[in-house]
Amino acid sequence: MTSMRVSLTDEQRALKAGVAEICKRYPGEYWRQLDQDRAYPEAFVTELTRAGYLGALVPQEYGGVGLGILEGGLILETINACGGNGAACHAQMYIMGTVLRHGSEEQKRRYLPKIATGELRLQAFGVTEPNSGSDTTKLQTTAVRRGDRYVVNGQKIFISRVLQSDLMLLLARTTPVDQVKRRTDGLSVFLFDLRQAQGLEVRPLRMMMNHSTNALFFDNMEIPAESLIGEEGRGFSYIIDGMNAERILVASDSIGDGRWFVEKAVAYSNQRVIFGRPIGANQGVQFPIAKAHMAVEAAELMRNKAAALFDAGQPCGAEANMAKYLAAEAAWDAANACVDCHGGYGFAEEYDVERKFREARLYKVAPVNQNLVTAYIAEHVLGLPRSY
Ligand SMILES: Cc1cc2nc3c(=O)[nH]c(=O)nc-3n(C[C@H](O)[C@H](O)[C@H](O)COP(=O)(O)OP(=O)(O)OC[C@H]3O[C@@H](n4cnc5c(N)ncnc54)[C@H](O)[C@@H]3O)c2cc1C
Repeated sequence: MTSMRVSLTDEQRALKAGVAEICKRYPGEYWRQLDQDRAYPEAFVTELTRAGYLGALVPQEYGGVGLGILEGGLILETINACGGNGAACHAQMYIMGTVLRHGSEEQKRRYLPKIATGELRLQAFGVTEPNSGSDTTKLQTTAVRRGDRYVVNGQKIFISRVLQSDLMLLLARTTPVDQVKRRTDGLSVFLFDLRQAQGLEVRPLRMMMNHSTNALFFDNMEIPAESLIGEEGRGFSYIIDGMNAERILVASDSIGDGRWFVEKAVAYSNQRVIFGRPIGANQGVQFPIAKAHMAVEAAELMRNKAAALFDAGQPCGAEANMAKYLAAEAAWDAANACVDCHGGYGFAEEYDVERKFREARLYKVAPVNQNLVTAYIAEHVLGLPRSY
C-alpha cells in the first residue's frame, strides 16, 4: 500500500533550502524588470539548470538526479514562494516524461543527458490550437510522412518558451479524423529541433503576465522522420500519460504562489497601522488571509498525496486533478486577500503583489481550465454522465 509522509525528509528540506538560496539572488526587482520588458529569466534558469534542479526528474542513468515528482514540485513551489515564477522552466519537468516513457532508447540517449546538463532546453510544448482549444482531438495541424521526413502544416496558439527552447514537443494529426475509429487515434507526438526548423513562423504574444507565449504558423515545415516519439497515431495517449505529472507540478506552482501571498499579507497586516491599530487586528482583514492559508495547506496535502501515488506508479488521475484545482483556487483566494489588505499598495508595481496576482490567475485557466477538471471529477470519479 502506498504511504504518504506528513512532513518532509531532511533531503527534501535541503532541496528546498538549496533552491531558496538561488532565489535570494533573484529578488523582486529582477522579476519586476523582466515583467516590464516581457523578457525571459535567462540568468535564473541558467543558474537553476547548472545547479542540477531542472534535471532533477531525469533518471541517473541518463545523467539526471533521478528524483521523484514530489521533489520536482518542491523545486517549483519554492521558486514561487520566494517571489519568482517557476513557469519559466516548469514545462521541461513534465515534457521530459513523455520522452522518457515513450521515446526510443536512441532518443533518450541523444536528448536526456543534454537536457539534464542544460546543453539542450526542452521547454516548448505545442498542443493548443485556435480552432480546437480544450477539445484537443479536434486539432488541425497535420504531419504527413514523405520519405524520411514529416511535413507539418497548421497553426498553434499560446505556445510558451518557443524562442527560449532548443527542442519542442509537438502534437499533430498524422491520420485524418475521418479515417480513424476514435477521434483520439491518428494523433502523433514529435520531438524536433527548433533551431533547425524551416517553415516555422513564431509570433510573440503580449499576455497579461510575462510568459514568453507565441502563436505558431507551420508552412510545410519539414522534420526528420526520427522525430516521431513512440508509435505513429498513438500520440494522444502519450500526452494524456503526461498530464498527471503536469497537474502535480502546476499545483506546486500555485502552492508556492499561495505561500508567498499569505506571507506578504501577514507581514503587511501586522505592520500597517490605521485607526490606531494594525489592520490585521480586524477580522475583516485577518479572516480572508487565515482562510487562504487553510486552503493552501489543504491543497498541499492533496498535492503530496497525488505525488506519493505518482511516484509509487499508482493511478493518481483523481488526486492530480484535485490538487491542481484546489491549489489554483487557494492561490487565487490568497492573491485576493493579499491585494485587499494592501489597499492601494496592492496595485503598485514595486510591491510585486500585482505581478504575482496576474501570474497566479493563469492556473485557473491553463494548462487545463477549472471547469474541465471539475467535469473530470464528476465523470471519472463520481460516475456522473459526461457533460461535453
Ligand atoms: C499564458 C498561457 C500560456 C500557455 N502555454 C501553452 C503552451 O505552452 N502549450 C500549449 O499547448 N498551450 C498553452 N496554453 C493554452 C492553454 O492550455 C489553453 O488556453 C487552455 O487549454 C484553454 O484553451 P482555450 O484558450 O482555447 O479555451 P477554450 O477551450 O476555448 O475554453 C474557454 C473557456 O470555456 C470553458 N469551457 C470550454 N469547454 C468547456 C466544457 N466542456 N465545460 C465547461 N466549460 C468549458 C472554460 O471555462 C474555458 O476556460 C497557454 C495559455 C496561456 C494563457
